[in-house]
Amino acid sequence: KQQEWAKLKDEPSFTKDGEQVELAANIGTPDDVEGVLNNGGEGVGLYRTEFLYMGKSELPSEDEQFDAYKAVLEKMDGKPVVVRTLDVGGDKEISYLDLPKELNPFLGYRAIRFCLENEHVFRPQLRALLRASAYGNLKIMFPMIATIEEFRQAKALLIEEKESLKNDGIEVSDDIEIGIMVEIPSTAVIAKQFAKEVDFFSIGTNDLIQYTMAADRMNEQVSYLYQPYNPAILNLINTVIEAAHAEDKWVGMCGEMAGDSIAIPLLVGLGLDEFSMSATSILPARTQLLNLSKKELVKAKDQFLAMSTSEEVVAFVKEIME
Ligand code: PEP
Ligand code: MG
Repeated sequence: KQQEWAKLKDEPSFTKDGEQVELAANIGTPDDVEGVLNNGGEGVGLYRTEFLYMGKSELPSEDEQFDAYKAVLEKMDGKPVVVRTLDVGGDKEISYLDLPKELNPFLGYRAIRFCLENEHVFRPQLRALLRASAYGNLKIMFPMIATIEEFRQAKALLIEEKESLKNDGIEVSDDIEIGIMVEIPSTAVIAKQFAKEVDFFSIGTNDLIQYTMAADRMNEQVSYLYQPYNPAILNLINTVIEAAHAEDKWVGMCGEMAGDSIAIPLLVGLGLDEFSMSATSILPARTQLLNLSKKELVKAKDQFLAMSTSEEVVAFVKEIME
């Protein structure tokens, strides 16, 4: 098996019937890039920048961040790199930010909500990203977007910083795509409206599942409700992909579901463009794709979207894979 995988390391990702998708990796630090390239990653679909802020006693400086982003972009050598701005809060604690103790941290003051109110934290990150954009193929993504206004505000700050850097004669790429994580149901539901304003979506199923099913992703007692194949989740994903494609925008997925062998046939059928997963899942996924017919899976879409339970969906996928 390892040998079969290794042969596909430098190959693009195709289904049996010749449809291409992108297999990218999730990373947390510049050191992770080596593993992405060794496993045949075609890009970075999610760079979780929280690690720059964690395990320290103060905010990372703009220059420190610039060095990290530039290192990733240079090592990826022109391949796409999606960097997510700070996603603090929920399961990700940063002690020196002095965030209030909350009853429901996953529903609280976090990520873009925190960044929009703390420009002294947010603006240096945006500036570091913009400066790094000259060194590769950077895409910027905002986490935990729940409303269009949040996206507009974040984008406005980014554009302000871009103008200010350019006025100072600093080189900034003019081709930076600006996208959002779709991990809150409100955003998935009106993906049509969002699709007119964003350059891309990346579906964060780790959170989208917990918020849709109202089941804490860390709580084992309710883990039976944490159902990636629940038709409710699949229908939300379908809404997002259809909305994006109607506006000629691309859709990725960077939650755990993107690298899951049961989910992959479903996601191919729904038309997902980019799958971002842990680096070690890439070659198994590329191998699996070669056995899947996109045409047949697209035809099966209406059938699995109409199913009533997760169990039915799983049985359906297992039958297809035989
Ligand atoms: C997600 O929510 O699916 C995601 C990729 O982000 P994180 O796991 O960092 O919350
Ligand atoms: Mg998330």
